[in-house]
Amino acid sequence: MTQRVLLAEPRGFCAGVEMAIKALTWMVRVFEPPIYCYHEIVHNAAVVGVFERAGVIFVDDISEVPKGSVVMLSAHGSAPEVVGAADTFAAVMVDAVCPLVTKVHHEVKRAAAKGFDILYVGHEGHDEALGAVAQAPDAVTLVDPDRGLDEFVADDPAKVALLAQTTLGMYEWEGVLDDARSRYEAIKTSRKSDLCYATTNRQSAVERLAEDATLILVVGSENSSNTQALVRVARNAGVEAHRIDGPDDIQDEWLDGHETIGVTAGASAPDQRVQSVIDRINPSRGVDLVRVTKEDEYFPLPPALRKLIHTLQALVEGAYACRTPGRPGPVDQDRDWGATEALQLLGV
Ligand code: SF4
Repeated sequence: MTQRVLLAEPRGFCAGVEMAIKALTWMVRVFEPPIYCYHEIVHNAAVVGVFERAGVIFVDDISEVPKGSVVMLSAHGSAPEVVGAADTFAAVMVDAVCPLVTKVHHEVKRAAAKGFDILYVGHEGHDEALGAVAQAPDAVTLVDPDRGLDEFVADDPAKVALLAQTTLGMYEWEGVLDDARSRYEAIKTSRKSDLCYATTNRQSAVERLAEDATLILVVGSENSSNTQALVRVARNAGVEAHRIDGPDDIQDEWLDGHETIGVTAGASAPDQRVQSVIDRINPSRGVDLVRVTKEDEYFPLPPALRKLIHTLQALVEGAYACRTPGRPGPVDQDRDWGATEALQLLGV
């Protein structure tokens, strides 16, 4: 029987996901459905399901969005053509791209403008990689971390830049970085890598869990890159690990013989799911928090949404269920509420 659960801290929602969920919550509270969202707002089946039930239609092709619609673009970042098209035909368009993804887009554009061959380390077909490569498609080569650099030939070995998807495994990034440095002495790369704080913190926490746990369960969806990276980090540390969307995915035999089980969650997984997983494990000696750092990052709502809501504030006040008399609404005090509360507002 399992005696202890070690619960990773930090885990679950990052600042970019918090911002994106709250932004889409505002959209469904302010506008009549349907609201269109280009790509899944975040890569989590439960979160996407909540918004679908609230009237959001997710599309992978911006041309599927009818003219004059209300449109949100996902946290993963979009190609300039997608942003431009949405801006042109949507009645309202809000881009919920995470600022840390935007930072990489700027790096891509700057390096391309200076004539660099850009190696972008990322997973083929992932929404974030699609958006980043599209910033300068003629200058960027997508490098899958599993395949490495063998297929790449630089036009000018002195002008090669190495950038990355924010949600890679640290070991994936470091493997390609070492190889690239050995091939191109003058390689240009970000000072601290493009992996975001949430990615690296969650992976560090998993490494800490792996010191004591013999099984690690990672809550998150199949298409969540950072969730998959957490599973690989755990397995690289020699620990059995499984990705699960929630408690129903746990197979009884997984738990057999494990006195200490580590639990964590990818950056887009709701904490309610984590709590249900702990309930399902039902450890006899309870839960110990394993904290590697305290996160206090906060990203404000997208500027277009802030402007829109300020304009509509007088109309919205009466309808916004989260407001309490005498307390300013979330646009004025956006730090006072979180994505978990936003999802509860939608009836999770
Ligand atoms: S994982 Fe990192 S880059 Fe992605 S949304 Fe969260 S903070 Fe932004």
